[in-house]
Amino acid sequence: MIRLQNITKSFGKHEVLKGIDLTVNKGEVVVILGPSGSGKTTLLRCINYLEKPNDGEVSIGDFTVNCKRPAKKDVLALRKKTAMVFQQYHLFKHKTALENVMEGLVVVRKVKQEEAKKISIEVLGKVGLGEKLNHYPSQLSGGQQQRVGIARALALNPEVILFDEPTSALDPELVGEVLSVIRKIAKEGITMIVVTHEMSFARDVSNHVVFMDGGHIIEEGTPDAIFNHPKEERTQQFLKRIT
Ligand code: ADP
Repeated sequence: MIRLQNITKSFGKHEVLKGIDLTVNKGEVVVILGPSGSGKTTLLRCINYLEKPNDGEVSIGDFTVNCKRPAKKDVLALRKKTAMVFQQYHLFKHKTALENVMEGLVVVRKVKQEEAKKISIEVLGKVGLGEKLNHYPSQLSGGQQQRVGIARALALNPEVILFDEPTSALDPELVGEVLSVIRKIAKEGITMIVVTHEMSFARDVSNHVVFMDGGHIIEEGTPDAIFNHPKEERTQQFLKRIT
């Protein structure tokens, strides 16, 4: 369903992605692991063109963007198929939880107010915030703000949700509530690609694990293969350090 072919990305002279090939099937939960600086976030941001790859192709469904010659309408179409959950939530401070979720639907997707409100209430309920619809971000904990971020992604009904270290900005006691919401939506069969350092979560939520280092995919496979029988030295070293 999602196919990346030979994606490269440089910032100035620094080549951060050195030819990434990745296939993600519909309904799969793919976790991307790797040391800091290995290119995980950049790869995620290339999938929805928040970063423009230098070369390669990004396909979602039967739709393909050639990164050498991307047309603006293709980039917009690609973005429409994806939604992203950011490390730092990126909520509008002067909008309530409900308004934050409605915003993308009304402004970007041109959904009518009434319908957008209905969808937003439903997804906020799904992430356990049915009682907090009219709270502003400052009145919510970090975990609740991130759950608004997840609701906002869900509301768009994307083909894939991209999670960029969704719990790394949270105090440790708030991590669990966010991971359990992500686990819950994973069970509903939504395709997800998750960059995370939460190893036990990665192990039990994913169908497929990708290990990156130095801008390359070093090894990928089932959680059992990667966590219990990693073949590559670099994967073994990384897992030893982190677990
Ligand atoms: P990871 O998510 O694995 O920690 P990143 O994708 O965030 O890695 O970063 C990979 C490398 O790219 C790092 O060396 C980082 O400093 C660099 N990088 C990321 N974004 C930018 C940017 N906008 N400008 C310049 N360098 C960047």
